[in-house]
Amino acid sequence: MKSEIIAVGSEMLTPFRQDTNSLYLTEKLNELGVTVAFKTIVGDRRKDLVGAIRVALGRADILVLMGGLGPTEDDLTREAVAEALSLTLRRDAAQVAALHARAAAWRIPMPQNNLKQADVLEGAIVLSNPNGSAPGQWLDTTYSGYRKLIMLVPGPPNECRPLFDAECTPRLRSLLPARFIAKRTLRAAMIPESQADKLLAPIYTQYHDVETTILAHAGDIQLTLLCTKASLEAAQHRVDELAGRMEEALEDWLYSTDGEPLEQIVLYYLGLRQATLAVAESCTGGMVAGRITAVPGSSRSFLGGAIVYSDPLKTSFANVPPELIAQHGAVSHEVAEALAKGIRQRTGATLGLGVTGIAGPTGGTETKPVGLVYIALSDGQKTEVLEKTFRGDRDRVRQWATQQALDLIRRRLR
Ligand code: ATP
Ligand code: MG
Repeated sequence: MKSEIIAVGSEMLTPFRQDTNSLYLTEKLNELGVTVAFKTIVGDRRKDLVGAIRVALGRADILVLMGGLGPTEDDLTREAVAEALSLTLRRDAAQVAALHARAAAWRIPMPQNNLKQADVLEGAIVLSNPNGSAPGQWLDTTYSGYRKLIMLVPGPPNECRPLFDAECTPRLRSLLPARFIAKRTLRAAMIPESQADKLLAPIYTQYHDVETTILAHAGDIQLTLLCTKASLEAAQHRVDELAGRMEEALEDWLYSTDGEPLEQIVLYYLGLRQATLAVAESCTGGMVAGRITAVPGSSRSFLGGAIVYSDPLKTSFANVPPELIAQHGAVSHEVAEALAKGIRQRTGATLGLGVTGIAGPTGGTETKPVGLVYIALSDGQKTEVLEKTFRGDRDRVRQWATQQALDLIRRRLR
């Protein structure tokens, strides 16, 4: 079953507002085994809306329209659906009464134009909206000889979502065959996206019944596998089989088989090894500590650390000899190593991490370009130092460096 979601509202075609409802509705439709094949955003213009509805009905079996059900001139969804399907609108007496009752309860006069919210499409069922004045509508109809299920739901998120759950989901469920969804999320760190695709595409393209989506973000690749079948066992079996093959292909880039973030995995390993961690961060300014402490329970393994942005603080907080900085520069293999060792000594942690780099956009030189980052991890005996050059703006360099630092810890403890 293919569906389309149309979000109606000119504000969502400005730089200031997004259609976020459709993310929610997509999840709910997917749970019913319905694929969202198209999403459209249309401004509050009747002609555009009629056109979009006709296009949608030509390519989807289920159409959800949200927004544009209010009382004002620019609320045109009812009228546009009527025009697109050549249906009449009738004013529903019960809805008129409900609007009057609502106005009375609020002790406000009822403007005449509010009454258009009581207009119901020929053949439609009214869907009650306890959180607002505009009811939804459900229409089970035909278009060009094909059966179409059309839902009109209000735009405000606090009305749209409960109304869809209470009124649309049960109706859809009763009409659609029972479907069960199995889902798995795998995550891998620091693997180049092109390499991940080269490894994985030959595998997942063999599984036509599993939908694989890949999200990549600064050294993190997230693979979501989704399979819908008539039985949960069958769906789970396919997802697990594909996940198993992908896990094998990703080797030790893979860090999570159930969606956990990297910092959670790092904490898991720290706990397992009964180890503690302290950090001395320069260019990442606390981002490593921020991600780690975002995980509940991190205090069991994470001692803390220092943001050693200036050279004097590298010395006073992390014991980095000033001569070392003078000789090699603050962004150097030697200083990263000294940061890791120094913060470990200062805190008594099992592991010390040091990060120093040039996040940009200025500060780069011929020999030390923007994006150059040194990350060191010391356990007292061995100190490993990575030299990396990350591309991208300041934000990206810092995110990559943070991810790389966490991955270095993970690999040490694994
Ligand atoms: P209704 O269908 O209840 O009349 P409407 O579209 O007329 O809704 P608006 O006044 O245009 O209501 O929008 C109300 C609020 O809901 C606005 O803040 C708007 O940005 C938000 N909104 C509308 N549609 C969406 C959407 N698809 N996703 C997120 N927010 C939305
Ligand atoms: Mg609107």
